[in-house]
Amino acid sequence: MSASVALRLPSIDGLLRHPACLPLAERYGREALLTSLRELLDELRSSVVNGQLSAVEISPEVLAGRVGERLVQQQRSQVRRVFNLTGTVLHTNLGRALLPEEAIEAVQMAARYPLNLEFDLASGKRGDRDDLIEGLIRELTGAEAVTVVNNNAAAVLLTLNSLGARKEGIISRGELIEIGGAFRIPDIMARAGVRLHEVGTTNRTHARDYEAAISPRSGLIMRVHASNYSIEGFTARVPTAELAELAHRHGLPLLEDLGSGSLLDLTRWGLPAEPTVRQALLDGADIVTFSGDKLLGGPQAGLIVGSKALIAKIKKNPLKRALRVDKLTLAALEAVLGLYRDPDRLAERLPSLRLLTRAQADIFAQASRLQPAMADVLGEVWRVGAVQSLGMIGSGSQPVARLPSAALCLRPQVSRRLRGRHLLNLEAALRALPIPVLGRIDDDALWLDLRQLDDEPAWLAQLPLLQVAQ
Ligand SMILES: *Cc1c(COP(=O)(O)O)cnc(C)c1O
Repeated sequence: MSASVALRLPSIDGLLRHPACLPLAERYGREALLTSLRELLDELRSSVVNGQLSAVEISPEVLAGRVGERLVQQQRSQVRRVFNLTGTVLHTNLGRALLPEEAIEAVQMAARYPLNLEFDLASGKRGDRDDLIEGLIRELTGAEAVTVVNNNAAAVLLTLNSLGARKEGIISRGELIEIGGAFRIPDIMARAGVRLHEVGTTNRTHARDYEAAISPRSGLIMRVHASNYSIEGFTARVPTAELAELAHRHGLPLLEDLGSGSLLDLTRWGLPAEPTVRQALLDGADIVTFSGDKLLGGPQAGLIVGSKALIAKIKKNPLKRALRVDKLTLAALEAVLGLYRDPDRLAERLPSLRLLTRAQADIFAQASRLQPAMADVLGEVWRVGAVQSLGMIGSGSQPVARLPSAALCLRPQVSRRLRGRHLLNLEAALRALPIPVLGRIDDDALWLDLRQLDDEPAWLAQLPLLQVAQ
C-alpha cells in the first residue's frame, strides 16, 4: 500500500485516445463512451484517494473493460422478452395476448408507411379511424357501430361519462368489482361524473331492486361481468334480457362491461363458456365494452360496441380524443378481427387460442422431453419431475376454471428450513438468464408450466448458463 500515495486516475482525454477504448467509441459512439467513463471515474475517485485500488485496477485496460461492461448494460433494452412459464396464459404483467403473424405484419406496415388512418380513400375526404374496423365488428358481433379506445378501463370510463354524467348509474352490489391495478367500478363511476346507485346485495339482486331505484335522476343501468371472482351458492342475478327490457321500459340504456369479451363460443374448443359480445347485444344490452388483449387475442385496446345513436354520442365526447388508439393498435386489431371470419382455422392462427387449447398430453410429452436436460443442469440438490399441473386463462377470464397442463416441477432436496431460500435463489437465477424464465413457486417447489413454451431450442440453448446461488 505504500505506493498508493502516488496513484492517480488516468485522464478522460488519455482514456478516450487509448487503444483499449477506441473500439468502444467505434461501437457505442464517442458521447456514450464519454458519459460512461465520467460516471466510472467519479465512482472510483474516492477509492483511489483512500488507497483502496491498485495500479492495475486503474490501468486504462482494466478501466476500458469495466466501461465496456457498463455500455453493454446501458445499451440493453429495458423492454425484454421473457419465457412465461407461470401457467397463466393471458398474464397482465407479461403483456397478455401474443399477436398472430398477420397482425405483426400489419403493425410493421403501419409503422413503416403513411396510411389512411383518418382519410377516406373512396371520397378523398377526411375519414374516421373507427371506420377501419367497423365493418368487421358489425359482421362479428351484430353491433351497429363501434369506437375503439386505449383499453377497456378507458372504454368503461368514456361510456359512463358520455351516457351518465351528472346522473345516477344503477348497478348491483354484487358487481362493484375491483380489477388488478386499481380499477374499481365505484371509483371509475365517480371519475366519470356518474353517481353510483347500488342495488340489491352481494349475492342476490332482483329485478324489483333495479325497478325501485329508477327515478328521474337515473342515467343508465350498468352490468359488470364478474371476471376475476365468482359468487356461488345462494345467488340471484337478473338475466341480461330481462334487465334490458326493464331499462328500456324506463328509457334508460343498459351498459354491459364484459371485460374479456369473447367473440365466439369458446366451448367449441373445449374451453369454459364465456358470454359472447353478440349474445349480450342480442339480449338487449345497448352498449358492450371489452378488452382487445384478453380472450380476443389482439393488441391492448378497449372496444365499445352498440347502437349507432349511442356510439355517436360517445364519439362526440372530448375525452374520446384523449383516449383514442394509435395506428399500430388499429392495424393489429383489424388483422386479428379478420382471422375471426374463419373460425375453423382460428385455433391454428391466433396464438392465444392456440396456447389455450394446447392438449395436456402434448405439454406432458414436452415436459418429459425436457426433464433430463433440466435435471442435468440443476444437479443433485434438485429433484426434477415432469408432472401434470393446472394453469389458468388469466386476465380475469374464468377465474375459477383451471386448464389441465403439464410442468417441470423443481423440488430442492434440502431440509425444510433451507427450502425457501433455495427456491428463491433458483427463481432469481432463472430470471437472470438472457431470456428470463418466469415460473411460479407453490407447495415447496418451483413450477415451470410448459403450455407456453413454443421456442424450445432457445430455452434449451440458454440452460447451461443457469447459475444458482447456494
Ligand atoms: C379486464 C377488465 C377491465 C379492464 O380492462 P383493461 O383492458 O385491462 O383496461 C374492465 N372490466 C372488466 C369486467 C374486466 O374484466
